[in-house]
Amino acid sequence: MTIRIITLGCKLNFAESSALMNELVSRGHRRAKKDEEADVVIVNTCTVTDTADQKDRQAIHRARRENPNAKLIVTGCYARLKPKEIADMVEVNKVIIKREDIFQQAVSRDDRTRCFLKVQDGCNYFCTYCAIPYARGRSRNPSISFLIEEAEKAIKEGAKEIVLTGVNIGDFGRSTGENFIDLLSELDNMPIESPFRIRIGSVEPNLLSDDIIDLVARSKHIAPHFHIPLQSGSDRVLKIMNRHYDTALFSERVAHIRQVLPDAFIGVDCMVGVRGETQECWEEYVKYITALSVSQLHVFTYSERAGTRMLSMDLPIVSMKERKERSKALHRISEQKLQAFYAEHLPSPATVLWEAKNDHGLMYGFTENYIRLSRPYDKTLVNTFTSVMQ
Ligand code: SF4
Repeated sequence: MTIRIITLGCKLNFAESSALMNELVSRGHRRAKKDEEADVVIVNTCTVTDTADQKDRQAIHRARRENPNAKLIVTGCYARLKPKEIADMVEVNKVIIKREDIFQQAVSRDDRTRCFLKVQDGCNYFCTYCAIPYARGRSRNPSISFLIEEAEKAIKEGAKEIVLTGVNIGDFGRSTGENFIDLLSELDNMPIESPFRIRIGSVEPNLLSDDIIDLVARSKHIAPHFHIPLQSGSDRVLKIMNRHYDTALFSERVAHIRQVLPDAFIGVDCMVGVRGETQECWEEYVKYITALSVSQLHVFTYSERAGTRMLSMDLPIVSMKERKERSKALHRISEQKLQAFYAEHLPSPATVLWEAKNDHGLMYGFTENYIRLSRPYDKTLVNTFTSVMQ
């Protein structure tokens, strides 16, 4: 049969879709070509916000339009949370919900250079605004030795950068009694001669210990690039959100990174407009984030998720208009931070990993500290590291 998988949402979903496609191909099925109508279409959904749900539904409509005779299967986080809502859509033939108590291994390749390695799944934190623990279940992981084998295999097959993905990867080890720092250390010490990089996905600030930061600073292969979810710059809101840290701890983490890795890229997730984010809390948030020495903000606008604890809390609601205004304000601050980061780090020597895509005669690559550079396309440079003065 010919199969098409349509993936929405995070890197983890992409890694899982890729693993699923490999499995189907190994059983004798074939990936549908670009304009070919598939026999089976699988839509792997996301449910992180209302907008994500909307995009899932649009993708399902489009999949049916483009593949009128296909069997249409829906899976992923939205399917797990709202199976009936999806099953009721006329376009859908079947909803498949993954079992949450097993760890499904996934590795995906993005072009030739990068490989997303799923090291963990699920989350035990139950932040009051978040539906992910209900969709993906409790924190679980495979063993370090298994992941080392997967990473070595990916590098042997040509990947030059391994990106560690998961829902709450700093919580690695719940299933195996191991821990995240040992995983990093073993990945860094893989006996591989050819050059490669490890990039760490998002790690909760309470789990990003100084020891982990120090390990990154002395590592041979781990990129000086941190992605840390802050979510709010107001301690009152962090409490409402049931986050596991306060702004003082977050500032200590950032200060430690800046002390041992002054050139590191620090990306920070920020949510705006959650219930209880009063004008006063918002002003605290803006003041805090403006002063924080980070490189870029990833801004998310809060949307109410069915079944989450925040909906039953007696809190003032931020209007949609105000949520949008706050989002715009943080986007502006983010742009200033990014420009300041570039101004500080350009020019300086760096190593770029060039990617395959030929974009109107240009090719792109990222430095270890996540600065995107371009140069005229040169096929011989694809998937290689070169030293440059940025
Ligand atoms: S840490 Fe909080 S926001 Fe992140 S997945 Fe877990 S519950 Fe959701």
